[in-house]
Amino acid sequence: MSTLESRAPAATHAASATTDPLAGPLLRPDPAHALSKQSVAKLIPLWFVYMACGSPQLVQMAPGILKLFEKLRLSWLSNAVMRRTFFAWFCAGEKEKEIVQAMRGLKESGVGSILDFSAEADLAEDRDATAAVAGAADTARAHANVKADAFAKEYLHGLHMSEQVPGSFAAIKVTGLADPEVLYRLSMPYRPMREAFVAADHDNDGRIDFTQFKQAVLPSMPGGDRVSSASGMFSMVDTNNDGQVDWVDLQMALGLDNPLARPLYLRASPTSEYGAVETDFEDYERMISRSRAVAQQASDSNVRIMVDAEHSYFQPLIDHVALVLQREFNAQTQHGGRALIFNTYQMYRADSFQRMVDDYERAAREGWRFAAKLVRGAYMELERERAAKLGYASPINPTLEATHASYNKGVNFLMQEVAAAQAAGTVPPVLFAATHNNASIEMGMQQLRQLNIDTTNEPVMFGQLLGMQDAVSYAIAKAGLPIYKYVPYGPLEEVMPYLIRRAQENSAVASSIRKEASAVLSEIRRRLTGRSAAVAPTTTAGRQSSSAQ
Ligand SMILES: Cc1cc2nc3c(=O)[nH]c(=O)nc-3n(C[C@H](O)[C@H](O)[C@H](O)COP(=O)(O)OP(=O)(O)OC[C@H]3O[C@@H](n4cnc5c(N)ncnc54)[C@H](O)[C@@H]3O)c2cc1C
Repeated sequence: MSTLESRAPAATHAASATTDPLAGPLLRPDPAHALSKQSVAKLIPLWFVYMACGSPQLVQMAPGILKLFEKLRLSWLSNAVMRRTFFAWFCAGEKEKEIVQAMRGLKESGVGSILDFSAEADLAEDRDATAAVAGAADTARAHANVKADAFAKEYLHGLHMSEQVPGSFAAIKVTGLADPEVLYRLSMPYRPMREAFVAADHDNDGRIDFTQFKQAVLPSMPGGDRVSSASGMFSMVDTNNDGQVDWVDLQMALGLDNPLARPLYLRASPTSEYGAVETDFEDYERMISRSRAVAQQASDSNVRIMVDAEHSYFQPLIDHVALVLQREFNAQTQHGGRALIFNTYQMYRADSFQRMVDDYERAAREGWRFAAKLVRGAYMELERERAAKLGYASPINPTLEATHASYNKGVNFLMQEVAAAQAAGTVPPVLFAATHNNASIEMGMQQLRQLNIDTTNEPVMFGQLLGMQDAVSYAIAKAGLPIYKYVPYGPLEEVMPYLIRRAQENSAVASSIRKEASAVLSEIRRRLTGRSAAVAPTTTAGRQSSSAQ
């Protein structure tokens, strides 16, 4: 039994509790201890990172500055600075040996790893790059597939590294496994279809009948006109033949994994820009087989997979891939319902809670184990800018408070479900609470205690990113709870967007970060002069999230 009361260490989290969990706050980070774990070679880049992040203007200008250096053919210089500072602090490295070593170092402190090849792809960037190289649609497509194959290979290599540190996860980004343009086109029908469903559901009971399906849902799909028998299509969705279907039924029956549903995704005419083109289905199949190959190797090597959430305009396909893999690899009939594949829910999106609950329901109907990573979300500015530019409603919550409320609601829902399943002796869902927000972590720890959740088999885990809130991570490990760090790696040029996001996230707390910089400097001085006193007033660890609730 590993409840907070008993404080027995979780299987992969060796540290034991040394304090009474019932007295005062449960989260007790020790900043000085976290700094003392770092070598001077690591503290120097950390000091530089904090100094740079202390200037929000500099961080805001950083992408422009990097582009300017590139234009002036001085990338070698900006890369050298980034490599010795942000990359050195936030990434585990580029080579297998140093990466595995970093993961082992974390494990010795009771912290697990989620290996993360941090290269990213987006629409315009990718299309520009492929067009520049290839100059023609077919060649661009071939180029995109070669790139996706290379990503899949890298993920397989990542699994090989993760396997060397038992208990680790590996993260994947679906945009790496297909041409982002294809993902975008195949994702397009999701929003109109969902909106049509909600509008058609006049009595708000979450179900629609054949007429509503035919008059609202089918026409919302780009290829809705191609359907020769609307009633045949409806029967395919209405599996229990009661004349009513809900959203989960629709998603299950009209997914791209059903070849009969694919014509619905096809654009109505060659001049239309809404929907997929024929070749997208071949690329879809390739993406699924790459994803399956990665999941199969993960299963063979017992490494769990986190499917990252990305931009909202790819997310329907990302969710779809995650669900296809979960159905196959989290099946209750296999490995006693092992949770191998985790999907991610960005709670800064207004629709995330409902999507999560729908997927939870789908897991129950299809008989697989639900496993979710909950984050607030990393692309808020970009999402809002794009929505404003293209004239659609932003998918992001209107306020930070709404995001906090949504995050807490998600955590609360899954904690209750875990507790209920444990009480009933059934297989619980799995919650991975990924956050740097100390108030959220504290709340999660309180709920574990109040609901008396047994964390021995990790139905609830916490997660932070390498180089962020380290003292908090160590404190969670010390409390005997499952805690993992994302361990990013990859070629410097490829992980640059990730590094910029970390700079932005840190600069959001610029007021406290200067104090943290001076704490790091004191620690460096202490090491170099051999003095013993080393207590910093405020450090990374002591920092509340910018937006602590
Ligand atoms: C282990 C781990 C894995 C992660 N994986 C992913 C992933 O797969 N996909 C992904 O997108 N991100 C991922 N992230 C990044 C995560 O989304 C950011 O770290 C997170 O947004 C920061 O939120 P927070 O919970 O730490 O704290 P906080 O600092 O409390 O919250 C800040 C966040 O709140 C939201 N927010 C801020 N202002 C507003 C506003 N005005 N209105 C509405 N919302 C607002 C934004 O999401 C912002 O990032 C991951 C993070 C961790 C720790």
